[in-house]
Amino acid sequence: MKINISEVFYSTQGEGKYIGAAQVFIRLSKCPFDCPYCDTDTQDKEYFEINNHKYINPVSAEELAEIVLKEFGAGDNFHSYSITGGEPLIHYEFVKELAGILKNKSKAKLFLETSGLITKYFKELDDIFDIMSIDIKTHSEKVLKNLPVLLETVNSLKHTDYYLKLLLPEDNAKEIIDYTALELHKYNIKNIIIQPVDSIITKDTIDYLYNMYYSKNIEARIIPQTHKILAIP
Ligand code: SF4
Repeated sequence: MKINISEVFYSTQGEGKYIGAAQVFIRLSKCPFDCPYCDTDTQDKEYFEINNHKYINPVSAEELAEIVLKEFGAGDNFHSYSITGGEPLIHYEFVKELAGILKNKSKAKLFLETSGLITKYFKELDDIFDIMSIDIKTHSEKVLKNLPVLLETVNSLKHTDYYLKLLLPEDNAKEIIDYTALELHKYNIKNIIIQPVDSIITKDTIDYLYNMYYSKNIEARIIPQTHKILAIP
């Protein structure tokens, strides 16, 4: 199986629990979702470039692993390979194969960034990925309805160090906080990272969310997208 790669680059993780970690980002093209705040180019490209070397799409997982290992080495100067998108799990077989090869041939950790909207593969990836960054999308009632399935699924993960990252818009923030606090509590989930959409959040919302989550024994941390502040990819 061959797929298109959007870009592969070395940078700093700008979001979530592993903020500041040096990573090799492997961005797979395409996403079936339509988040209103999306800032990612998910279109297919004819080629991708690394260190001024041009690689023609599509590529197999084996070919991509070889390219990544040749261009970036086996993890001597970075924390992890971040397999991201788009939504990488629409290419599940490819992701599994790529991660499996990199895990065997490198000492870097394997990190998956996913929208949290395709949960059916999480269990199979539990042994392969060291870390999973899983979004809680909140931009419509339809995506919010996905939350109980997502929480039930992450509760069954045994190995990966997963974390949940709630994309919180300032409009209707309180309703989202109320709903998610109740659901997280129901599933006995104790931690949540709040990523304010467009880095906009008021003091009133901050006070409200800490009160609400902590009252349910959930540790909430507000972490904006720092790569945008640093103006790095
Ligand atoms: S899931 Fe991610 S890549 Fe897809 S539309 Fe939403 S923000 Fe963009």
